[in-house]
Amino acid sequence: MFNAKLKFIEASTNKDGSYSVPYWEIDSGIPGASLLISGAMHGNEVQGSEIIRRFKLLLEEQMIKGKCYLIPFVNPKALRRRQAHIDFTPGRSYSRDRENNLNCAWPGNENGSDTQRLAYAVFNSPIIKDATHCVDLHCWQSMRDSAIIPRYDNAESMTLAKASRLPFIIYKTEQKTKAEPHFPCLLSDYYNDSGRVGLCVEFSGQFGLDNQIIDYGTTAMLNIAKKLGMVEGNLEGNQELPCVINEHNKVDITAPVSGIFVRSNCEFGTKVSKGELLGHIFNEENLESYEITSPVNGVLFRYEHQYDSSLYSDTLSAYHAHTQKDEIIAEIVEI
Ligand SMILES: [Zn+2]
Repeated sequence: MFNAKLKFIEASTNKDGSYSVPYWEIDSGIPGASLLISGAMHGNEVQGSEIIRRFKLLLEEQMIKGKCYLIPFVNPKALRRRQAHIDFTPGRSYSRDRENNLNCAWPGNENGSDTQRLAYAVFNSPIIKDATHCVDLHCWQSMRDSAIIPRYDNAESMTLAKASRLPFIIYKTEQKTKAEPHFPCLLSDYYNDSGRVGLCVEFSGQFGLDNQIIDYGTTAMLNIAKKLGMVEGNLEGNQELPCVINEHNKVDITAPVSGIFVRSNCEFGTKVSKGELLGHIFNEENLESYEITSPVNGVLFRYEHQYDSSLYSDTLSAYHAHTQKDEIIAEIVEI
């Protein structure tokens, strides 16, 4: 039994002075992996935060070696705003705003935006240098299944992704590990490109919490700890092999016209047959409807129109049913 210690990273904003980012450190005192798990880098993506809380209780009981850093709320100011970023105002994009999107702001800037200052504070804490493995927990929209994103040419990253037993593994075979990080970058990329191991997880659903996802997410973190030798025991959870998605087996379904995408009764994460009805587009100009069918046999991974965050200035637009012509409305892994 090892008790987690509560510690704090001091960050600052341009106007309101300093604030604390709390984290737990669990140190067995026995050499082993040093695992960092971070959650809610985007303040509207909170499922990982509860997963970290539950994982911490299990780790305190079961840890046999190594060290763990757990940051459930990396971006507390964005969390309190219930928004993706600290400074998320109309006209600013979710993902492509390099100044305000913490996800791609690493290693930060001491004198930059509030987000860059936060990245700087966390990056220069003892955690980032000491951790040998990083798992960064995010959430994407609700109509996409949960997936873990390893680095394809980093064997240990791939091994841990499989061990997690999350439903999907996504990677790009063309993404190669660099000799050194190219800043600014994702935190997980920093780990992979600095000779360590980094993974991202995208759980299904932003803003809220789903107990089933939190359960298998907690099991996934425990499985990763087992694979790293920090915890004893067999891997748990889904016995089926995860569905692997890469650029070679993913089939994108695009909207033939603009309109609202009305889904049929298919469910993401399940099999669909060639010719099966996925839904229809109800066009706003001629009031015609256009059926959408699956062109292949496969597993439905994404079942929503593509949210191009460069076009929208708020996260709620992601949930709007309207799609533009040629936008991706579903992704199927061909089997
Ligand atoms: Zn995110």
